[in-house]
Amino acid sequence: MVARHDQTTDPVLLEGLLQARRGTAFFARKLNELTDADLDGDSLLPGWTRRHVTAHIGYNARAIARLIEWAATGVETPMYASTSVRDHEINFGATLPPIALRHLFDHSAVHLNVEWRDLPAEAWHHKVKTAQGRIVPAEETVWMRTREVWVHAVDLDNGASFRDIPEPVLERLLKDITSAWHTRGTDTGLLIKVTDQPDALTFGDTNAETPTLITGPLTAITQWATGRGTHGVRATSTTATAGTAADAATPASDADLPEVPPAPKWI
Ligand code: ZN
Repeated sequence: MVARHDQTTDPVLLEGLLQARRGTAFFARKLNELTDADLDGDSLLPGWTRRHVTAHIGYNARAIARLIEWAATGVETPMYASTSVRDHEINFGATLPPIALRHLFDHSAVHLNVEWRDLPAEAWHHKVKTAQGRIVPAEETVWMRTREVWVHAVDLDNGASFRDIPEPVLERLLKDITSAWHTRGTDTGLLIKVTDQPDALTFGDTNAETPTLITGPLTAITQWATGRGTHGVRATSTTATAGTAADAATPASDADLPEVPPAPKWI
């Protein structure tokens, strides 16, 4: 049966689907602003042209659609056969004629959207496996796609910035990244504080006695955390004070502001 509307009625999931669809529309807009010749230009990602980014987003939609088919049928269909198959596919996609590359993006996005829309409500809880090997409910695919389309729209490097990304998406992205650092223990000595949100957001090594304090607005901190530059972010050395808890750490004199360190690797 082909449905006209989402089968799920879960409000949280529907809100997530809306962010994914908005992000896809945003990526489409930035892509459509580029001429065919522009596609040959560099993206913000080292070694990748805009062609690579577009191919990656197209194949990502197909890969996520495979997870939705898995959730719907119970037949295991992984995102990618292997990392090298994934990389090869992107490199191949980047060589497609511009019209084919644009079709790849459009068709794969429509296909994924149909798969999501028609997935029966209860199948959203079925477990699937991400490319990193995590076992997640099919619901998680919505977030996986959301962060791809928003962040890679910025990577197209034709005017989009992290300021275009909705705050709930930025906040969840920052939580994802900092928890990945935490799991790997790569955030030692880094305390991250978002300065422009109503609820204080603090991440990183909250037990460090004299952490390097990284502060800035949510957009700048998230951009830094994804490894996309230090603009708008400030680093401050702290000195231990009585109690020495990270919360009590006080900035050293302004004169010796350290350079903002690169964020730990994320993916
Ligand atoms: Zn990606």
